[in-house]
Amino acid sequence: MKTLDQFNFQNKKALIRVDFNVPLNSDFEVTDTTRIEAAKPTIIKILEDGGSCILMSHLGRPKNSEEEFSLRHVVDAASNILGVHVKFVKDCVGDLVEEAIANLKSGEILLLENLRYYPEEQKGEKDFAEKLSQWGDVYVNDAFGTAHRAHASTAVIAQFFPENKCFGYLLASEIENVNKVLSDSESPVTAIIGGAKVSSKITIIENILDKVDHLIIGGGMAFTFVKAKGGSIGNSLVEDDKQELALEILKKAKAKNVEVHLPVDTIAADDFNNAANTQTVPIGEIPEGWMGVDAGPKTRENFAEVIKGSKTILFNGPVGVFEMPNFAKGTIAVCEAIAEATTNGAFSLVGGGDSVAAVKQFDFGDKVSYVSTGGGAMLEMLEGKTLPGIAAIME
Ligand code: AMP
Repeated sequence: MKTLDQFNFQNKKALIRVDFNVPLNSDFEVTDTTRIEAAKPTIIKILEDGGSCILMSHLGRPKNSEEEFSLRHVVDAASNILGVHVKFVKDCVGDLVEEAIANLKSGEILLLENLRYYPEEQKGEKDFAEKLSQWGDVYVNDAFGTAHRAHASTAVIAQFFPENKCFGYLLASEIENVNKVLSDSESPVTAIIGGAKVSSKITIIENILDKVDHLIIGGGMAFTFVKAKGGSIGNSLVEDDKQELALEILKKAKAKNVEVHLPVDTIAADDFNNAANTQTVPIGEIPEGWMGVDAGPKTRENFAEVIKGSKTILFNGPVGVFEMPNFAKGTIAVCEAIAEATTNGAFSLVGGGDSVAAVKQFDFGDKVSYVSTGGGAMLEMLEGKTLPGIAAIME
């Protein structure tokens, strides 16, 4: 894997695809700087080598060149975090950029305007990628959040740097950490797959069945399994057309010696709101008019025991409606068990969407081994897909 450490950037211009697609408030101030902070180690390494950085990113989903999507709004936050004044140019191709880059000195950073002001970016047009490629001596991809897209700046551009291309530290560490679960894992390996829908997790489950010893299925998606096995699930979330598939997964897991852990009890609510009446019921005995919204006490105990006995843990998807405080106990119990296992030497990866939000919300971010920064990209890695942004650097 070609990483930054194989390059000395002295007097070199590094063209870095970063993911500065950050949230802004109505005053166009950055409200969450996580993605800028995540790119910092890469940028600092290049500056410390004596190179200069040309940063390119997208922001939001502009249709034309609306000012609200200008990366200009990110300049102050980026300057503060990086500790260097970030220069800005209001285009990403053309004469203005050429001039700004000609004036760029070692130790300086230039941020280009939103790549998605040009539709060619998302279409992955080669001519546009070639224009961008003029801006640097070395191409560095550190945008994990868009690594699953074959866009001009994330993948197509790499061909113009046959020798001089590499992963930034963030992208390299995402790859390394997912490999610790999918290829170099220590047994027992446990995957906790939760969330709302079986349909959005099915490819992940199929991919990881060969790699795990334990599969914990929780959250809304568990009810499709429970119903398929003949249980009564009341008004719980269900995908009726996925029942066959659920049974198929259970059969495949058995054939592969994977122990599947489904909930045995649930907190049932009479409405989908935090103030609803609740009762704890056995999993396949949910009364009509009630819905399972969180893992019950016995389930929490079972899940925690499996997690604490694991050496490698993947957490993908909450096991209850954790956004509502009264239904967060199951997800918190899972977080606590992962934290304890991690303290005892297990490797834990939290990746893909809402489990990342849950871990952050309950302050477990620094008690697990790694929290992935890319929702869709991490999901596709767990599904076993080759991401275009990664393949383009490996080629
Ligand atoms: P996903 O994006 O598929 O990981 O789904 C995450 C969502 O699943 C979260 O918003 C949770 O509130 C929701 N969820 C988890 N458990 C349940 C449940 N038992 N019933 C309904 N929604 C759930």
